[in-house]
Amino acid sequence: MTKKLYLQDTYQFDFEGLIQEVEKDEKGIFIILDQTAFYPQGGGQPSDHGVIRSDHFEANVIHVAQHGDQIRHYIGPTEIELLAAQKVYGFVDQKRRLTNARYHTAGHLLSNIVEILNPKLKAIKGHSFPGEAYVEFQGNEAIDVGVLQNAINEAIARDDKTTIFEIDLLGFEKQFYKLPYSVPDNKKFRVMQIGNMSPIPCGGTHLSSIGEIGLIKINKIKNKNAILRVSYEVT
Ligand SMILES: [Zn+2]
Repeated sequence: MTKKLYLQDTYQFDFEGLIQEVEKDEKGIFIILDQTAFYPQGGGQPSDHGVIRSDHFEANVIHVAQHGDQIRHYIGPTEIELLAAQKVYGFVDQKRRLTNARYHTAGHLLSNIVEILNPKLKAIKGHSFPGEAYVEFQGNEAIDVGVLQNAINEAIARDDKTTIFEIDLLGFEKQFYKLPYSVPDNKKFRVMQIGNMSPIPCGGTHLSSIGEIGLIKINKIKNKNAILRVSYEVT
């Protein structure tokens, strides 16, 4: 199974790896490595892009997807025979990674702040693609845009640190709160926490402090069928 370097460090952009497999599916040619810093699309977050190269080839990584246990690095045109069993160097596009981490970390902060302002609202889904980012909350409730915007600005100015830890479901619900969705109860899962706010289970890439987000602008708040959707941009 591929070692997931992106879970250990959001700011590791370069790495060495060994090609374990080169295959093709309907989306194109993909490479499987023994370890990778490339984040596969998932959890409402887009995949990383970048470059994989060796002494014999260079390929653009145009999409990364998790498929069962595999992390598939889809690459642009290259000589497939050059890819056999080689040591390679991976370079993650830093700008794209950090933009995605800013939008994604902003989604966490937004979830926390909305739940603090109105504890009847529970975050159930985040989508952090730039240009279309939102968080959805369960609850037939309203929230004031101005109040939310101010609370977010104040939180960002405090520049709380983020922490990552692992815990099992029993321990999590005993220590924190009952999750409004299910997670496997037989193994530990990864959790992200901003300051001392409510921790949130997540396998995404996060900034080390929320001051790095920049500014979050609330675009729109809409309630439909008891789901409150808060749309935002990061600038
Ligand atoms: Zn996350």
